[in-house]
Amino acid sequence: MSQVHQIRNPWSGKIDFRFTEISTSEVQSICSRLKTHQPAWSACGLHIRLEHLCALANSLRAEQQEIVAALVEDTGRERIAHLEFELLIQTIERVVAEAPEFLPEHAPARTRVAPIQASQQWVPYGLMLNIAPWNFPLLLSLLDVFPALTMGNAVIIKPSEITPRWIAPVRKAIAAVPEMAAVLEILPGSGALGAHLMEHVDVVSFTGSVRTGRLVNEAAARLFIPAYLELGGKDPAIVLASADLEYAADTILFSAMSASGQACQSLELALIDASLFDEFVARVVKRAQQMTINHPDRAEGFVGPFIMEGQAAVVKEQLRDAVAGGARVLCGGEIIAHGGLWLEPTVLIDVQPNMKIVREETFGPVLPVLAFTTPDDAVALANASIYGLSASVFAGDIDEARSVARQLNAGAVNINDASLTSRVHDTAHESFGLSGLGRSRFGAEGYLRYARCKAIFENNSGTSVVAG
Ligand code: NAD
Repeated sequence: MSQVHQIRNPWSGKIDFRFTEISTSEVQSICSRLKTHQPAWSACGLHIRLEHLCALANSLRAEQQEIVAALVEDTGRERIAHLEFELLIQTIERVVAEAPEFLPEHAPARTRVAPIQASQQWVPYGLMLNIAPWNFPLLLSLLDVFPALTMGNAVIIKPSEITPRWIAPVRKAIAAVPEMAAVLEILPGSGALGAHLMEHVDVVSFTGSVRTGRLVNEAAARLFIPAYLELGGKDPAIVLASADLEYAADTILFSAMSASGQACQSLELALIDASLFDEFVARVVKRAQQMTINHPDRAEGFVGPFIMEGQAAVVKEQLRDAVAGGARVLCGGEIIAHGGLWLEPTVLIDVQPNMKIVREETFGPVLPVLAFTTPDDAVALANASIYGLSASVFAGDIDEARSVARQLNAGAVNINDASLTSRVHDTAHESFGLSGLGRSRFGAEGYLRYARCKAIFENNSGTSVVAG
C-alpha cells in the first residue's frame, strides 16, 4: 500500500496538502532508468552538461512564481522564500563559472618517477542520492546536486517529507530540459524511503540531523558507498574587548534570528568580553524587541513560524531547562500559537555552560549570552561544543581576531561577520565534531567528491621501470 502523507501548513497550522509516497517496488525501475541514461550524460562532456544546467536555470526562472509561492506555503515565510530561489539560481551560475576551472579535462599529474608520465581521470560514481532537510527545502535539495551532475552522475533527490509543495513546479522545470530529466529525479517521501533508496545508489550526500546522519553513515558503511554528511551546529560568536560593539551586536542578532534561527549556520551562543557584557545585552534586547513575527501579515515581520511543529517543543524544553537552572529571559520566551507556532526573538542571560540551551542545537530564534574574562576562556567555552560547524569572532584588533579564529574547532570562522557560509560557496571547508563528515561540499572538493580518481601511467621509453 502506498503511504499518503498529510502535510501541515506551518503558518496556518492546518493540513492543506497531501502526497502519495512512491512504493518501494517502483524505486527499482526509477533507479534503473537513471542508471541507463547516466553513461550518455557522462560521455557528452563537461561543457555540454554545463549548457544543460544553464537551460535548467532558465526553465526554473520560467517557473519562479509557482516555485516561490509553493515555498512560501512550505516554510511560512515570504522574504526568505524569494531569497532561497535567488540563491538557487546563483548556485547554478557559480557552478557553470567555476567548474571548468576546477575540472581541467586532461589534467597531467605529477610523478617524480622517470620516465613515467601520469594523467588522471575522474570517473563519476554513477547514481548519487541527495537526502535533504526541511529548513531550506529547495536550496538544500539541489545545492549538492549540481556538482554531482557536473561530474557526470545521475541524481535522485529525497527531500524532506515536511516541506514537499515546491517539488511539483521544480519537476515541471526539469521536464522542460529533457537531457536533464533523463538523469535527475525527485522522490518525496519519508525517512524509510531515504533508507531504501540508499540500497540502489553509488554515493550519498546527506544534510540533516546528527541522529539521522549516523544512521545514513552506518548504512553507507554496510553498503560500501561514500556518504558526505552536513549536520547540525551550535555556532558561537566571540566578541573581544576591541570590537565595534553595536556592529557586533546587530550582526550577531541578525544571524541568530534570521530564518527564525532555523539555519544550521545560525549563531546560537554569544560569548562576550565581560567589559562589554551589559552594553551588548542592552543593545541586542532593544533590537530583538523591534523584530516582529510575520503574523497576522505574512509579508511583514522578521520572524516566521516554526516550520516543523515538533521543533517548537524542543525549543520550549531548552528554555524551561535554562530557566529552571537560573537563567533569565530578557525578551521573548513564550511560544505564540496562531494556528502556526512562533517564538518572538528571545535573549537569555545567566546561562551556564552545562545547560541544554548552551550545549544542544536549538534551531529557533534564541540567543543565550555568556560573559568571559580572557580570550582563552572564550576559546575554551566555544570549543567545549560537540559541534564544529562555524563560528564568528568580532574584534577591532585583527591580529587578535585571527589568533582566536585559528584556535577554534570549527569548519569556517567568520571574522567581523556571521553566517558567511550561507553566501560564500566557492571556498572549501569541512565540518568539525558532530557537524559533519567527509570532503567539503564547496571548492574543487565539492565536485571531486562525486567521482573516483583514476591514474593512468605511461611508459614510452621501451624500458620497463619494474622489470628493468
Ligand atoms: P532529519 O535528520 O530529521 O531529516 C533529514 C532528511 O533525512 C529528511 O529528508 C528525512 O526524511 C531523511 N531521513 C530520516 N531518516 C532517514 C534514514 N534512516 N535514512 C535516510 N534518510 C532518512 O533532519 P531535519 O530535521 O530535516 O533537518 C534539521 C537538521 O538539519 C538540523 O540539525 C540542521 O542543523 C541540519 N542542517 C544542516 C545543514 C548543513 O549544511 N550542515 C544545513 C541545514 C540543516
